[in-house]
Amino acid sequence: MRSPKTRSAPAGDIGELAGVGAKSAQLFREIAITTPLELLDYLPFRYDDLRLPTPSTELGSTGAPEENAVGTVDAVKERRVRDLEIVELVLHDDAGSFAAKWIGRRRFVVGKFAQGMRLFVRGRIERTLALPVVNVSQYAQLHEGQAYRGDLEPVYRASKDLATRKIAAVIKNNLETLLAMVPEDPLPAALQRAHGYMPLREAYRAVHAPATPEQAARARERFIFTEFFLLAVSAQLRRTERERDRGARSLHVPPALLEEFERELPFALTGAQRRAIATLWDDMSSTTPMNRLLQGDVGSGKTLVAAATILLAARNGVQSAIMAPTEILAAQHAAKLAPLLLPFGVRVEAVFGSQPQRSRAAALDKIASGEASLAVGTHALITETVEFASLGLAVIDEQHRFGVEQRARLRAKGGSPHTLHMTATPIPRTLAQSVYADLDLCVIDELPPGRTPIETFAVRTARLDRVYRFVREQVAMGHQAYIVAPAIEEGESALTSVVAEAERLKNDVFPDIAVGLLHGKLAPREKDAIMQRFVRGEVAVLVSTTVVEVGVDVPNASVMVILDAHRYGLAQLHQLRGRVGRGAATSYCVLVYPDDREETERLSILTRSTDGFEIAQEDLRLRGPGEFAGTAQSGVADFHVADLVRDFEIYQIAKGAAVATLSDDPGLHSAAHTGLRAVLERRPSTRALLYSS
Ligand code: ADP
Ligand code: MG
Repeated sequence: MRSPKTRSAPAGDIGELAGVGAKSAQLFREIAITTPLELLDYLPFRYDDLRLPTPSTELGSTGAPEENAVGTVDAVKERRVRDLEIVELVLHDDAGSFAAKWIGRRRFVVGKFAQGMRLFVRGRIERTLALPVVNVSQYAQLHEGQAYRGDLEPVYRASKDLATRKIAAVIKNNLETLLAMVPEDPLPAALQRAHGYMPLREAYRAVHAPATPEQAARARERFIFTEFFLLAVSAQLRRTERERDRGARSLHVPPALLEEFERELPFALTGAQRRAIATLWDDMSSTTPMNRLLQGDVGSGKTLVAAATILLAARNGVQSAIMAPTEILAAQHAAKLAPLLLPFGVRVEAVFGSQPQRSRAAALDKIASGEASLAVGTHALITETVEFASLGLAVIDEQHRFGVEQRARLRAKGGSPHTLHMTATPIPRTLAQSVYADLDLCVIDELPPGRTPIETFAVRTARLDRVYRFVREQVAMGHQAYIVAPAIEEGESALTSVVAEAERLKNDVFPDIAVGLLHGKLAPREKDAIMQRFVRGEVAVLVSTTVVEVGVDVPNASVMVILDAHRYGLAQLHQLRGRVGRGAATSYCVLVYPDDREETERLSILTRSTDGFEIAQEDLRLRGPGEFAGTAQSGVADFHVADLVRDFEIYQIAKGAAVATLSDDPGLHSAAHTGLRAVLERRPSTRALLYSS
């Protein structure tokens, strides 16, 4: 099984299936279903249980959103109210009577029913004083003497033009064809037996055409398990590959370096910072390249920790690079790190997009010659023109803002540099370990001392005048304020626009105060200029979109007002709030939400807690499984059916299985792993790993 030829999945076109014409083929393509196998992989998200009718006397008491009833028609009433047709039937079953009602613009049921007919009806039940009423969503006529037999009907995510019924029908009518195409099963047979999972083909049948809800759930779990298993196997392969790579420079840690570093700081390191530095330096002393995620709440002082790793690299004569997602952040890093590292003779050069040609060329020269020990920049750092003399350390700030590919490209600027990823997205540790399965984790769980907690309030827009009066008071005391709004310009939505709000504030509310405007459509140079004026205190009130979200550090700012706070997830609000509370003065965060919205429960979490991890946990709970801040772009957790939050227990089991599988058969060469290998070979991200094992 070592043929480097990639076995491709049986492809085919969705249009080849029975009942799929050119038009519906196009509709399927629009929901990313282009092949029969992709259709098979399109799993239902729930089932309508049509198996049993509810006796008429119990209709409306089962708690289900829709219920079924079977009965014989006693009376038919048809009427018309303006352009609506209303058809009402009274039916009876063995237990008693019930009504069925259709309301619609189309005449499709008018004249169809007569006394004595036997019908199946399904719909939302309305309990009236007289009879329970079924608001019919589907119905069927049963012939004389025909016993009622209903199925468990799969419900698929529909698009505007492609109804779930159509998707269900295509799958149902082509099920045997589709099942015949099922490729090799990636889940080893021994694992299936151990966990009581059905074989792949059977599992597909059971999710699309289940006999019982339990069977469907078992099959679904198998798909979830398999997704996690594949994720964990890939991560483990990557980890093994990295651990085998002894190509990193082993950096020597001089015994007094930490004291030396700390002597130059205006304050003492926190215990958490010291522990983090020790961990990272230890990583960097190995020839195995470091690949670590440094997680720390906003304001926990990650930059200093990064500085310590840069210092170690410089001491060992290798260069470092630090890449940040925005020019503002990159400039801030350069401005902070340069003086911090100056006493140690570390020369810093910056590279970013809007840089004048001449200064860019000069910076590139110094980076290529090795004269600069640290290159700070944006995405511009990973362009082809940037060459390093000896890149030994790559630091990626706000790592979730970069794709896997971009991070890899920075690393590729060196041989096997040590890599430090930094994030302020507080993902609970257990989750982080799985989302970033091939990264080691290091958490800064302590804020620098002397921070006064930020006082947070949630208020309705009706009270915005009072909020602005408060901002005015703070400015009068010499502080600065951020006012964040979601939209740039007015128009597209009802959301507050920064352009309009800044205008209003300048003219009407704060005519005597310096108001600045910052948003993503400004040219980088303008953004930089306005930010610099805010940093210098020349602008007292900065009206901005969320471009201020990451990393910006202005200790004199004491108020953060967030307009249309309902637009943001809790974790993002927490990030925004983290822009204040960086100085000695008490800081305030005011969350403003529309008068007609009920936001109190959600926003009150922020008024109660300043712990990013706790907030993230709540965010997860409220938003439910699906997505959570920071992982969308991580490129790792791209699941189809699985959900890390909801299915975390399954993840843990699958991860254990993956580790065991690879420890028994590191190269996956045994016949039992043929299917697994085939699937991994089809994935570009794992193919290469297989051939190095
Ligand atoms: P983040 O982790 O959000 O990137 P920063 O590195 O920007 O945080 O640090 C936030 C602020 O805290 C900065 O102004 C920094 O100088 C300050 N700071 C960092 N470490 C300490 C410390 N040990 N004691 C006091 N202040 C610190
Ligand atoms: Mg930062």
